[in-house]
Amino acid sequence: GGLEWPTRDLLAGRASTTPDATALVDADGDRSWTYRAFDRRVDAVAARLETVVSGPDDRLGVLMGTRVAFAEVYFAAMRLGVTIVPLNVRETAAELASKADRTAVDAVVCEAATEELALEVTDAPIRSVDAPDRDGVDPLEPIDGASVTPVALERDDTHLLMFTSGTSGEPKAVRLTVGNLVASATASAFRLGVLPADRWLCCLPMYHMGGLAPIVRSTLYGTTAVIQREFDPRDTARVVDEYDITGVSLVPTICKRLLEAGWEPPESLRFVLLGGAPASRELLERCRERGVPAHPTYGMTETASQIATATPAETAAHEGTVGKPLSGTDVTVVDEDGTVLGPGEQGELVVSGPTVTPGYLDAAETAAAFDDHGLHTGDVGYRDADGRLWVLNRRSDRIVTGGENVDPGEVVAALRSHPAVEDAAVVGLSDPEWGERVAALVVPEAGAAASLEPASLLAHCDERLAGFKRPKTVGVADSLPRTASGTVDREAVRERLLTDGTDLSG
Ligand code: ATP
Ligand code: MG
Repeated sequence: GGLEWPTRDLLAGRASTTPDATALVDADGDRSWTYRAFDRRVDAVAARLETVVSGPDDRLGVLMGTRVAFAEVYFAAMRLGVTIVPLNVRETAAELASKADRTAVDAVVCEAATEELALEVTDAPIRSVDAPDRDGVDPLEPIDGASVTPVALERDDTHLLMFTSGTSGEPKAVRLTVGNLVASATASAFRLGVLPADRWLCCLPMYHMGGLAPIVRSTLYGTTAVIQREFDPRDTARVVDEYDITGVSLVPTICKRLLEAGWEPPESLRFVLLGGAPASRELLERCRERGVPAHPTYGMTETASQIATATPAETAAHEGTVGKPLSGTDVTVVDEDGTVLGPGEQGELVVSGPTVTPGYLDAAETAAAFDDHGLHTGDVGYRDADGRLWVLNRRSDRIVTGGENVDPGEVVAALRSHPAVEDAAVVGLSDPEWGERVAALVVPEAGAAASLEPASLLAHCDERLAGFKRPKTVGVADSLPRTASGTVDREAVRERLLTDGTDLSG
């Protein structure tokens, strides 16, 4: 949409259109930058970066948390036409070294908190956005007044290598093009609208798509991104109020924590994109009570974030839906043989359109995931006659016990409807007799742990589920183990149940 290709880097175009509009606000330091000031900073950073990386064949690892400097490095790399490889600061040195190796980064930008980690991860040149204090780390001090000529960007240029969260195995490196990001920003604007006074709060990790997308979008729209380093229930609520935030992307767990801290959003707030994992019915009900404009969203790294987004009205009228696909995005439901299924029929969701990656870095992974219908998401779901989507679970999560298919989501829903259960995760454990057996890790409501008797849980499930769907092993936990992006870490759940689970099959 809308751009002539090749294009200058997205920030250069924006800065010449609305130089005096506010581009960035640092909510921790209470500072702000106009697009003109942001553009100059990016020029100065790009001039410095140019000594270690330049052009489309070079890759720049970025090992930083969410902060304004991340946005500067990001647009500086775009200006140089360099491919950006965001790295997860919460991973171990070994995990990161494998990623840096697979993506063959030519340099890494870090910050004070990640210097030591960066040195363990790579032999490539390391630059720090903070004053470095370790040998082998050099400053990324912007060269004031220096400028670089923005590289012309083609729609299909790979611009980002973004890792998936690794929920179902090794994280995959996803190639995203400038065209993917622009298409995603455009389609998102068609769904959510853009107002001149928009201020999008970024408090999710920028090394995931959901944290980075708002920066790209607000720059294309010419609106403001307010950046908060770390999510914190009280402080984030304060920032939303003080900075007249109009939109924010959250994962369900942190939205829940905001509500638990008593959050009442201001009038200014137009949308809360709730994605990365399913938003429970209880969470959506609480949002409705508090006037939180929750927009359940289905997205993935491979589609540069949103695939589908539901409005609050749709959420109320069609329980559990993630809404209709964004314009330009097509979702097909197919069975195991690739046959296209109709409304109401469950199958794998296959997605196509301009936001979809041209493929993974690994050609074999690409070949396995794509066919004539598009990208196989690995997610199981269905759509209704109007095209609204429901996401049930991942294909790999489906439990097969004694030849019967069990949808873990259905068992989770039954468990959650127990008054003493706040949340639950359901997985298959290998079983000598049944192949797999259904197992559940249950989180009790605050103060209700004592009343969570296995017998009462089982009786509750008996009324709602066929015998083969009933959990045969149950464990209790204070919270569900999750990946950095908020999805339930099913491998950790499995381990927990293998060590602490109670066998109820006898
Ligand atoms: P990996 O691909 O490495 O296993 P991942 O799929 O968790 O990791 P992401 O790209 O961060 O990595 O997450 C996208 C996935 O998150 C989707 O494919 C889907 O399974 C899940 N997801 C996202 N939004 C929702 C939602 N609203 N409801 C249910 N699941 C969702
Ligand atoms: Mg995935």
